[in-house]
Amino acid sequence: MLHSIRKWKRRDFLRNGFLATAGSVLGFKAINPGIAAPAIRTNKFKPVAISSGNGLAATEKAMEIVLNGGDCLDAAVAGVKIQEDDPDDTSVGYGGLPNERGIVQLDASVMYGPTHRAGAVAVLENIRYASEVAKLVMERTKRVLVVGKGAFEFARMHGFKEENLLTERARQLWQYWVENRSRFDDFLTPLEDIENIPEQLKYHLEHGGTINLNVLDTSRNLGGCTTTSGLAFKMPGRVGDSPIIGAGLYVDNEYGAAGSTGRGEANLQTCASFLVVEEMGRGSSPTDACLSVCRRIIERTRVSYLWRDGKPAFNVNFYAINRNGDFGSASILSGTRYAVNDGNGSRFVDAAYLYERE
Ligand code: ASP
Repeated sequence: MLHSIRKWKRRDFLRNGFLATAGSVLGFKAINPGIAAPAIRTNKFKPVAISSGNGLAATEKAMEIVLNGGDCLDAAVAGVKIQEDDPDDTSVGYGGLPNERGIVQLDASVMYGPTHRAGAVAVLENIRYASEVAKLVMERTKRVLVVGKGAFEFARMHGFKEENLLTERARQLWQYWVENRSRFDDFLTPLEDIENIPEQLKYHLEHGGTINLNVLDTSRNLGGCTTTSGLAFKMPGRVGDSPIIGAGLYVDNEYGAAGSTGRGEANLQTCASFLVVEEMGRGSSPTDACLSVCRRIIERTRVSYLWRDGKPAFNVNFYAINRNGDFGSASILSGTRYAVNDGNGSRFVDAAYLYERE
């Protein structure tokens, strides 16, 4: 990415220099040709990396990169790749829980503050690093979102390895889910399995997954990435918020960056990450902006299956940084922590919330 910043700078210089020279020779005033130049900043600034609760190692990695002069988006992608590689993280990349037919389908997005460009993939199969593929969509195409077979073929064109992402553990959890799903289907449930949900599956179903990582680098530029295997056992082809710019991720270099984990449909219906960033742009602190969007989601949630005893039966979490390096996080339900690194090592912090979890 540093390379592309340098390229941009050189190109801008050439273009502006050429227009100024042509203007003075031909006697007209050089005007902006209409191609937006990225707002590259170079002053040294205190960096921050904020991530979901599974992002402790990711924030550590991202901080190491930006402290060595690296770029915010390179750092964000390098950080989330740790989870994409981790077979024990059942919500991301390799080892992610599959859809209802046992196929792992990944969604991911990136957004880069200096150029205000974005890239995303959805329903990507058999390629582990959805985050990197999303970044290449941004860098090597004129498009923002590529899905399914097209995303797979694009990844193959860039040399990504095709592999089976379903680990043995994820397969067992999927089989458990299939066999316990209904009395009315073809499958028999082994007696010892009834009422004995594997702890890992219980945790995943209660807390969801996904990793979001937003980074402010030492040049005061912002970049973010969200990557996920989506809801466990989702219907084939279902796309959540993670690859949708404005829903699971949004970055505006002038205001801040925000991303989300949790029930994606709630974010899709409220353009939630966009709204968090807008609120920061209007002056709210990151935590207040996240809380305010949680409230908005609750106010607009009217369908009965999402409520239990007057409380929301779902959760959404937001993670945000503003351009000054303030950061914060909030969730609908209590019990969520996030990972942050502001130069003093990575640590967990409890997120603000609206309702106590039962
Ligand atoms: N937001 C993800 C989705 O809806 C899932 C999650 O974070 O738990 O696909």
